[in-house]
Amino acid sequence: MTGNIRVAGEQKQGLARAGQIYHDRDIRMRQLKAEGRKVLGYLDIYPVLEMLTALDLVPFGILGDIKEPISRADACLPTIVCPFLRSALDLGLKGRYDFLDGLVAAHTCEVGEKWAHIWRIYIDLPYIHYIDTPHTTHQSAREHLAVLLSDFQGTLESFTGAKLTPERLRRAIRMHNEQRALVRGLYDLRKPDPPLIAGTEVVQVLVALISLPVEEGNELLRQVIDEVKQRHDGPKKKPARLLLWGSVVDSTDLIAMIEDLEANVVMDDTFVGSRAYFSDVKLTDDPLEGLAEHYLVDIRNPRTFRETALDEANRKDYWADLESRHGYLKDYAREWNVNGVILQTLRYCDIQGYEVPGLKDYLEHIGLPCTYLEWNYSQAALSPLRTRVQAFLEVIG
Ligand code: SF4
Repeated sequence: MTGNIRVAGEQKQGLARAGQIYHDRDIRMRQLKAEGRKVLGYLDIYPVLEMLTALDLVPFGILGDIKEPISRADACLPTIVCPFLRSALDLGLKGRYDFLDGLVAAHTCEVGEKWAHIWRIYIDLPYIHYIDTPHTTHQSAREHLAVLLSDFQGTLESFTGAKLTPERLRRAIRMHNEQRALVRGLYDLRKPDPPLIAGTEVVQVLVALISLPVEEGNELLRQVIDEVKQRHDGPKKKPARLLLWGSVVDSTDLIAMIEDLEANVVMDDTFVGSRAYFSDVKLTDDPLEGLAEHYLVDIRNPRTFRETALDEANRKDYWADLESRHGYLKDYAREWNVNGVILQTLRYCDIQGYEVPGLKDYLEHIGLPCTYLEWNYSQAALSPLRTRVQAFLEVIG
């Protein structure tokens, strides 16, 4: 199986294929269903995809659609919650995800948990599992997550009738680690000035990745990396090289607005962006332990609380704590030669929003200019944001 998509006789490859899947996300899923594969939808980073891949299930990332007016979800979720979740539920209620055989969700945030239970009530699927992922990095939290993953394993085995052996799981972990390494290779193409690939193109590739089985995603990444290295029509050099941080970015719209100005978005710290890909899962004797450590400790995300860092005298210290929480962003800024940061959160996204004051302090402390945008996941919101970004670019320009 090559996984290449044929439309009207044309076999698309590389960036063209990524763009096609970005615009028509279910195209490959419906083909796979026709071949007898089972597709499980998942939300955000924390459902453990390796366990699905190991059992030959196809993971499919559930997203919203900022172009689609929300009309059905408001009967089930209040309007004062994360608009991304409202949009994703709305699409589910309208049948956009009617090819799914099941759903896996995990505790990213409080509303996300409510979302999963509401989905269970309103959208009937043969399989639904919720992982109550802990929010600390303590040893006890890691052990607890390993137990929760063992429960998850049990429901997956009942659903598929197959045994999830450690060997199958290790093989799947290697495939997902390969994907993480390839994504990091893709991000390396953003380091030159000008970057070899636009931020909008990267979003298209990453959205395509969560709309394909992992092996096909890896093939797509190899094609894209080869293509981008050889082409001569990449982005133009611009004065601002920006890092985009915060809530989910699942479409090109926000980045297109920014890159339409005198800026290239060369790095991000978001879901669907780098967050899921910048560390590998360790191959431990019990693979569930390595997975628990990865999802709780290795993935950097404000949803996981880290113990307050101590200074050299073993006292709690604000700046030592900020360094421990955000120091990786300083590394990103240095490696990708970033000269400005856009902090963006979706309205009512407390998980990311609570992080903003400390993060702004940290970025100012290390001399990296930043601006903060809160928006409501709609195209109408982009015009006023454009003015804010323009003003920011003048400051750093
Ligand atoms: S954007 Fe924020 S509120 Fe919405 S699902 Fe993600 S973490 Fe939760």
